[in-house]
Amino acid sequence: MTAISARKADFPGLLTRDGKPWHYLDTAATAQKPQAVIDAMSRALGPDYATVHRGVYARSAEMTLAYEAARRRVAQFIGAASETEIVFVRGATEGINLVASSWGGENLKPGDRIMLSQLEHHSNIVPWQMVAERTGAKIDVCPLTEDGRIDLDWLEAKLTEKHKLVALAHVSNVLGSVLGAKRAAKAAHAVGAKLLLDGCQSAPRMRLDMGELDCDFFVFSGHKLYGPTGIGVLWAREELLDAMPPWQGGGSMIDKVTFEKTTYAPPPQRFEAGTPMITEAIALRAAIDYVEQLRMERLYEHENGLVRQAREALSQINSIQLFGPESSAGILSFAMEGVHPHDLGTILDEENVAIRAGHHCAQPLMEHLDVPATARASFGLYSDESDIAALLRGIERTQRIFG
Ligand code: PMP
Repeated sequence: MTAISARKADFPGLLTRDGKPWHYLDTAATAQKPQAVIDAMSRALGPDYATVHRGVYARSAEMTLAYEAARRRVAQFIGAASETEIVFVRGATEGINLVASSWGGENLKPGDRIMLSQLEHHSNIVPWQMVAERTGAKIDVCPLTEDGRIDLDWLEAKLTEKHKLVALAHVSNVLGSVLGAKRAAKAAHAVGAKLLLDGCQSAPRMRLDMGELDCDFFVFSGHKLYGPTGIGVLWAREELLDAMPPWQGGGSMIDKVTFEKTTYAPPPQRFEAGTPMITEAIALRAAIDYVEQLRMERLYEHENGLVRQAREALSQINSIQLFGPESSAGILSFAMEGVHPHDLGTILDEENVAIRAGHHCAQPLMEHLDVPATARASFGLYSDESDIAALLRGIERTQRIFG
């Protein structure tokens, strides 16, 4: 057992109700939480609780400091130039909707084009379809290489000055394929387009540096990074955020309100209307402290190693078809001949193994793979060989049942 997965004991969610090991292979959907995050959330909701930004009493001032410290911690974690580039949102979905609605609404016009890819999550497709409908822009879809990566040769060849935005998954939630992000950024910038990276699956398993990645927008969800639900991050270059109009109106996002004219606060407050996700931001900070102390590079190697082991073992089973590239970030999709992924998932559940079965909110990718659904095993920092062994036992049992 490696030092990283020895951390299983930090995660109370990794036990079944009757105290047995639960082989949780659905971390790409949402990660289990370490006790440190649960404790941080509990303190913030309990003895430390108060609102932020408005209170004149000491507790509120302390809470404001903690909330803003969480923003600084996120900025440091992703290598942002400044914490003012960090907007707290409800999750990646909300972050992409914010960019589509605010930046897209302002910058897209009829004839403009948006470049997506065949493997995008619905949350990086539908908001663009909505803004395309509103603005008259059109959507192009970058195809995949044979092994399931975004085809950057095609992207480089097909991008034109009509493309104003390229929006791609940094890591696929179905195939685990890792995007050559710097190359995508170079290609986008060469035609004057902005690059949005959907970092939902990269933030929990890769070291990030916004300067190095050279993208323009980056989004991720806290709950996939071992933090709570209901919080996510939109990072955008300062000059882009400065020029973007607000997308929701309300308290906290204003400078001055009169019935004649309202002026808005600068970013990030301009994009955080209403009482923010205070306790969630504080718990997200605890999650970042937790993962960073393990070193992100090691997390990547750890999960990549587990995927390799699982691939190797599953490739020995004739009835199993594997999807995606040889080397992937912690995520492995597969299908079993003659067994619907849902049935496989149900049998595995009886063995205390949790996988995801379905279209994974990526129906265009399912169409490309020519399957209605896949089974997906996804690993986290707490996963280890015992989880792979349990998965294999469950698959063997399924073979016996369906054999
Ligand atoms: N993009 C990717 C690649 C994802 O895996 C997910 C979550 N499955 C999302 C976007 C949406 O994240 P959320 O539901 O947390 O907003």
